[in-house]
Amino acid sequence: MGIRRWVRRDLPVQSLSGPGIVSPPQSSTPATVQEQPATDWETLRAQVAACEKCALYASRTQTVFGTGDRNADLLIIGEAPGADEDRLGEPFVGRAGQLLDQMLLATGFRRNQVYIANILKCRPPDNRNPAPDEILACSGYLASQISMLQPKAILAVGGISATSLLETDQSVGRLRGEVHYFGESRIPLVASYHPAYLLRKPAEKAKSWVDLQLLMRVLRGAA
Ligand code: URA
Ligand code: SF4
Repeated sequence: MGIRRWVRRDLPVQSLSGPGIVSPPQSSTPATVQEQPATDWETLRAQVAACEKCALYASRTQTVFGTGDRNADLLIIGEAPGADEDRLGEPFVGRAGQLLDQMLLATGFRRNQVYIANILKCRPPDNRNPAPDEILACSGYLASQISMLQPKAILAVGGISATSLLETDQSVGRLRGEVHYFGESRIPLVASYHPAYLLRKPAEKAKSWVDLQLLMRVLRGAA
């Protein structure tokens, strides 16, 4: 995906940084589009809840902001809400979420000990892939979340998450297995398969376990 196309490096949010995750251009567009993502949780949450920056606002039931411990060492970033998340307002609560919970437990984390967010805060209709302009429109919110969380490590699950955050076209199969660094603050990032993919291809779970072990070494400062 040509993420580079929509990266702007001349915009403020970037103490945190990241390739891929920067504020969308602020131009002579309506007021809601010009608003900078807030740098405090409650304002940011309210901005997201009211957001109409991309067309997905029209079909969502509600936004899915993110959940978990705001002091967590680990931030997990998925793709976008599905039907269950759209209904309940929380990320990873459907079948894929149950598998994610099990994967986390296997590494010793309960769900409420990490922070979980998505690249997109609204559900794409029919679970289609997020479009590049939607990812761009939403990116400032995640950038603010990362900036406030300052996690010790990021786990990017699935190709959309990994390629958006790392600003690359490579497949998750190529990106997994090594530690990448997100943004100017160089937050260690491990990419792995999306739990929804693992539900379809259980044989890949072994690789995802290897990725989680790498992630745990990163969190312990040993990788
Ligand atoms: N898949 C995701 O990527 N995120 C969710 O929140 C749910 C399913
Ligand atoms: Fe706004 Fe993101 Fe929802 Fe689009 S997906 S309407 S940018 S919150």
